[in-house]
This record gives sequence, C-alpha cells and structure tokens, in this order.
Amino acid sequence: MEDEMADVAAVGGYEGEDRAALEAMGAVFYDDLGALGDAGEDARGAVRVVAYKHHQPFDGEIMDRLPQLGLIANNGVGYDAIDVDAAKARGVRVTNTPDVLNDDVADLAVAMLLMQARDLCAGDAWVRQGKWAEEGAMPLARKVAGKRAGICGLGRIGREIADRLAAFKLEIHYHSRHEKETPAGWTYHADPVSLAGAVDFFVIALVGGPDTENYVDAGVIEALGPEGVIVNISRGTVIDESAMLDALEAGRLAGAGLDVFRGEPQVDARFARLGNVVLQPHVGSATGETRAAMGALQRRNVAAFLAGEELPTPVV
Ligand code: NAP
Repeated sequence: MEDEMADVAAVGGYEGEDRAALEAMGAVFYDDLGALGDAGEDARGAVRVVAYKHHQPFDGEIMDRLPQLGLIANNGVGYDAIDVDAAKARGVRVTNTPDVLNDDVADLAVAMLLMQARDLCAGDAWVRQGKWAEEGAMPLARKVAGKRAGICGLGRIGREIADRLAAFKLEIHYHSRHEKETPAGWTYHADPVSLAGAVDFFVIALVGGPDTENYVDAGVIEALGPEGVIVNISRGTVIDESAMLDALEAGRLAGAGLDVFRGEPQVDARFARLGNVVLQPHVGSATGETRAAMGALQRRNVAAFLAGEELPTPVV
C-alpha cells in the first residue's frame, strides 16, 4: 500500500479525542520515529509538522529524512528527547506544552513526599494483609510539617511545588541558577550541595537533557545525608541513579519518591527491593483533564504554524 501523504505526521500514542482531533486536521499516524523514517519518500516529503508524543531521541538524522519539516510540536513541557540545536540548525521550530500541567506534576511531587514520609504504601499493605489485626499498630513514621524542603530548580513546576509545601508548613529553600523573587523567608542556595546540606526533603524540578545530566551527584546525596529524602519528578538523567541506589541500600539516604528513571520504562531491579522508596510510572501529568489540555495546546501550535501565525508556546 502507498504511504498516505499529509502535512502533519502524528508520532506516538494518540488515543480518543486527541487522536480524533488530529485526524480532523488531516494527520497521518506513526507509532514511532522509526516508522516515520521508513515511510515512502513522497509521504516523508509532504511532512511539514511532526506532532510528537514520544520519548525516543528525535535527532538531526531523522529531521534530514523530512525535507519540508518546519515544526516539531511536542506534547509535553520537557523536550529533552528533541535535539533542539539540530532543529535550529535546520530552521525547524520546536514548541512544547508549558504551564497547563504544573498543578498535576506539583501535586504528584507533594503526594510522593507525603507517601514516603508517612509510609503510606506500607500502611495500605498493613491493612490489606491483615497485619493490623495480627500484629497491631505499624512502626511510627516521620512528621512533615516544620521540616525543611529544598526545591532544586525553581521554574514553573518547582514554584508550584514550593507554594504547596509552604502551605504544608515546611520551611522553603531552593536552588536555581539565579536568585528569584519569592515570598519572604525562602532561602536561596547558589549550588545544589549547599541546598542538600540545609534540607530534609530534596525535590528536583529541573529540565532534563545533557546540561543537567547527573546534576544530583554523589556529593549532593552525601550532603543530604542519612535522614534525607529525594523526590524527583523531572527526568531520570538528572540524578546519578546508581549513587542514589547505593546510598538507599546502605542507609546513607533515608528514602526517595520517584516518578522518572533512567532507561524508563525499564527500571533498575534494585528499586523494587527497597522498602524506603515510592515509585511511580512517569505519571506527573497523567490525568484526563491535563492530558486533554496538553493535546489542545499542542494542536494550537500546529494550527498556528500551518496558518503562518505566531506560535503560542515556542521553544525555538
Ligand atoms: P522550567 O520552568 O523551564 O524550569 C526548569 C528548571 O530547570 C528551572 O529552574 C531552570 O533553572 C532549571 N534549568 C534549566 N536549564 C538548566 C541548566 N542548564 N542547569 C541548571 N538548571 C537548569 O520547566 P518546567 O515547566 O518547570 O518543567 C521542568 C521539567 O519537569 C521539564 O523539563 C520536564 O522534564 C519535567 N516534567 C516532568 C513531568 C512528569 O510527568 N514527571 C511532567 C512535566 C514536566 P533556573 O531556575 O535557573 O532558570
């Protein structure tokens, strides 16, 4: 069968209303970039926009197989899978979906922090497995209010996390590349080691990608210490994961709440053997309402590009 020709190639797992809305824009669907790269020359030659919903690396080589490509519209705020420099060099624009997911991702960070500190996974199992009746009360957990939270990366999502944790009566510390305007009483740290040394909960809300690879390294983990907890909703690459696993196993770090992993969806088997971690399958923005808003914003970018209008949320 001839490959279908269309302006818009939708790459990734589109379903339901999102898929229908892209179909209405005339999009042709591909499971991944391999399938798009393998499409016939005419089909590839027609593509002006890739509506991207995948974490596979989108590099210059695949861009070169799409000679009319003008826009990569990412479904997600994190665009670390896209080689933005390669896009820029080819005059390809990139957009993302900022802000509409801030609340959900921040909620998840706070939820994992509370779950880890209050041992909620174990509590749930304690009831389900009948241990409550057989063994009595569970071991005591840790109080959250009054503790110190450190936000590593006070960007859009980081700020929402900090605001929530302030409402939970934690003392707020943060690290960004520059000091920001914040409510009175928040403490700025010029580097992540200083932040880690000052707090109980270390919450990571950085961008991913090569510039932040291993930003949270063995030195940061050591500074956080045996009472410290890491929460990560950003990307698996920002932490030296094996250093974190070593510390969790040896009791040099109290615990972690993690939504993102290196090599996900394959997750290091060492995580599953740990009792002091809360693990989630990259669900920061995974509510029906927010995914619908992300899809709508992605399509607004696609439509603006096709109409020759200003892009609503450009990256480059
Ligand atoms: P944002 O507003 O751009 O904030 C990003 C933060 O990263 C800022 O604090 C920024 O520092 C910091 N940063 C950027 N480049 C850096 C560098 N080279 N070195 C050190 N710090 C750097 O982004 P956002 O909208 O809050 O999103 C943050 C990330 O969350 C996304 O990129 C994505 O990876 C992740 N995310 C995850 C989920 C999930 O499902 N778990 C969902 C959505 C987003 P400054 O403050 O110094 O500018």
